Amino acid sequence: MPRPLFFYSDALMAYDMGPQHPLKPIRLRMTYELLESYNLFDTALELVEPSLADPEEVAQIHSRNYLEALHRLSSGDYFPGAYRYGFGTGDNPIFPDMYEASLRYTGASLNAAQAILDGAGGGMVAFNLSGGLHHAHYDRAAGFCILNDAAVAIRRLRTRFARVAYVDIDVHHGDGVQELFYDDPAVLTVSLHESGDTLFPGTGYPEEIGEGAGEGYSVNLPYGAFTTDDVWLQAWREAALPILRAFDPEVIVLQMGTDAHFLDPLAHLCLTAQGWLQAIRDVRALGKPIVAIGGGGYNLTTVPRMWTLAVAALIGVELPDVVPDRYAYRNRIPTLTDHQEVHVDAREAGHARRVAQQSVQQLKQFLFARYNLKS
Ligand SMILES: [Zn+2]
Repeated sequence: MPRPLFFYSDALMAYDMGPQHPLKPIRLRMTYELLESYNLFDTALELVEPSLADPEEVAQIHSRNYLEALHRLSSGDYFPGAYRYGFGTGDNPIFPDMYEASLRYTGASLNAAQAILDGAGGGMVAFNLSGGLHHAHYDRAAGFCILNDAAVAIRRLRTRFARVAYVDIDVHHGDGVQELFYDDPAVLTVSLHESGDTLFPGTGYPEEIGEGAGEGYSVNLPYGAFTTDDVWLQAWREAALPILRAFDPEVIVLQMGTDAHFLDPLAHLCLTAQGWLQAIRDVRALGKPIVAIGGGGYNLTTVPRMWTLAVAALIGVELPDVVPDRYAYRNRIPTLTDHQEVHVDAREAGHARRVAQQSVQQLKQFLFARYNLKS
């Protein structure tokens, strides 16, 4: 039996924005170790070391000036214009060898895309959890993201596939990816996120539907603070999933940010691991090949188990909920799913429900007719 490819190596730890920064590369190793504790690399996944992206291929997405700036800063050659490219801020500090580290993350997403193109590991899913850096712009770093690996991978997939869908369930709007394909009808971007009213990057409203030939190919489903599983899933299934299905993608790039979880420190949605997982199951059920990439997630006791649940679901493996002893003890992660009740007060819950309803109505109004869907 071919085993789906999982791109990981400890070299990914080099994308390190410093001890005070919320994006901690250790979450990748912790996830790898949790998957390993379930013996998945002996039975169900093939571990492959990622390679560096070719800067020429990255230059199809990012400006050469930007890449040049990144290269210079990476080796400690600071110059006053760096700030213009988004570097040197609290969110996007300059760190040693950031050029190579970024090329490796992007390379891993390209590796995963190529695995799907080659039909490797069964051809239905390939993983790069270091990817999903969806805020990176054409010539600007933003929101911890330097190179937009998702966009580079989509470009590679487009060499063979006529229609690519990008589905982003990170709690933040997938603004960089949306922007890079905003006028492209071959790439449908779908983002579920906390509303720009209360969260970075402040975009992702239903009226952002694309432009020019790409009009109708950007889908945004914003949610209010304190949104819980039921509200999140219902809106996704009522408004976004039908469009995704109608678009009929040949391949899907699935960004699996875990920061919509109720314990995440950076945002205000209140999902559980198992609620979030349902959207991933829905995407898998479409039966299309999936390039599965990571994204945000800043609570170290939730990220590894959510990604483990996601990986298991995408390869069709059922894992015992109780985490193997040694790992559980060392990392204080006793189970994969959440067993703690999520408490949201009635007023907040009502508000979250109304925001979701409004988003659903707007999406239907702006997009359903184009896809011959009935509201
Ligand atoms: Zn995020």
